Amino acid sequence: MSGRPVLRFAPSPNGELHLGHALSAWVGSDMARRLGGRFLLRIEDIDIARCRESYISQMYEDLHWLGISWEEPVMRQSERFVTYGRASDMLLKLGLLYPCFATRSEIAEATKANPNARDPEGAPLYPGLHKNLPPEEIAARLARHEPFALRFDMERALDSLEHITGSRLVTFTELDADGAPTLIERDPAVWGDAVIVRKDVPASYHLAVTIDDAFQGVTHVTRGRDLFEATSLHRLLQVLLGLKEPLYHHHPLLNDAAGRKLSKSERDTSLRELRERGADVLQLRHQLELSLQSTHESPANPP
Ligand code: GLU
Repeated sequence: MSGRPVLRFAPSPNGELHLGHALSAWVGSDMARRLGGRFLLRIEDIDIARCRESYISQMYEDLHWLGISWEEPVMRQSERFVTYGRASDMLLKLGLLYPCFATRSEIAEATKANPNARDPEGAPLYPGLHKNLPPEEIAARLARHEPFALRFDMERALDSLEHITGSRLVTFTELDADGAPTLIERDPAVWGDAVIVRKDVPASYHLAVTIDDAFQGVTHVTRGRDLFEATSLHRLLQVLLGLKEPLYHHHPLLNDAAGRKLSKSERDTSLRELRERGADVLQLRHQLELSLQSTHESPANPP
């Protein structure tokens, strides 16, 4: 790896930041400082229906309050749909994506037969509806302006992966909190025919994050353990799109008092509330470090 390391914090402004985000932002900015690297902030706002401007300005205030600084300008994913479209066109031309017009209820009906087939996030595996639609039917549905998602044809994507790398598995390097590397091997097939371009916006989290990390030259992706398994999809996309491979560090997740992962709906941990209540940032940081130690072995954070 040449040049300075590049790290980033990439929140989605579809709710208030909470303590889990504070941890994530600190993990990234601390590692950037330790490595003498650059630290970027990227606003992941492709979900234009749920993201709000007010959450973005609040995010800046929260992060300043935490003592975190980042390079300007801040990238916003909602301004990059054309770039994501170019990448999905390329995958489509390679025959690795197919249009899927199926509605939620059609998918729910078709997955009933096999309720135990689930992806790593617990969502039912896509049953392959519309995978082999005749070209005339695709053309007719397009002419009727039926909304569609673009899904990976996972078998074909893995054929290409094998052609390029000699293996149907992906690997990535996971760093632990001290920076010690472990080589991880994963089978992206566990995701089935994942959505690469959503019906409502011309991108998906997986596509946008992969393209932007490469575009911004991110060398170390730091984020929560909940995204560990998704890394296999990101690695697959990187190989297929000819993008550079970063190193990864997935930090443990913070749990609430009942042992559940923190979420944006849990208002008592919102950074805005803590800030407005005059919470002490140093104490907060200390508290997060302590809870990190106790969450290491929890079910949300398998070793
Ligand atoms: N935008 C994602 C989130 O807020 C994080 C993406 C990432 O760090 O890869 O959960």
